[in-house]
Amino acid sequence: MHELSLAMEVIELAQREADKNGVSRIREILIEVGDLSGVEADAFQSALELIVHGTILAEAELRISRTPGKGKCMKCNMEFEMNNRIDCCPKCLCLPSEISEGQEFRVLSMVVE
Ligand SMILES: [Zn+2]
Repeated sequence: MHELSLAMEVIELAQREADKNGVSRIREILIEVGDLSGVEADAFQSALELIVHGTILAEAELRISRTPGKGKCMKCNMEFEMNNRIDCCPKCLCLPSEISEGQEFRVLSMVVE
């Protein structure tokens, strides 16, 4: 399960940051999940809950910030919203030349004790 390995990575990252800063508990963690990142926010949350016991994030509150997908049309350069990676420009039905937003999956911030 993709989300499970991401959850492990997030715990490892949190642990590294905590060690670096001499922190023993993290109260809150904010994670950005782009709509086009391929990560299911709910599945990620369940995966994290499954393995979080006994780790640095055991008592941390998980907050997820969703970023909507955005792409730039290869023909008219217009920026448009994307719900799927295969969404096309609403004007000329062209695929985007680039996806400018929504592919993120990253830890934005942590609140420590
Ligand atoms: Zn277009």
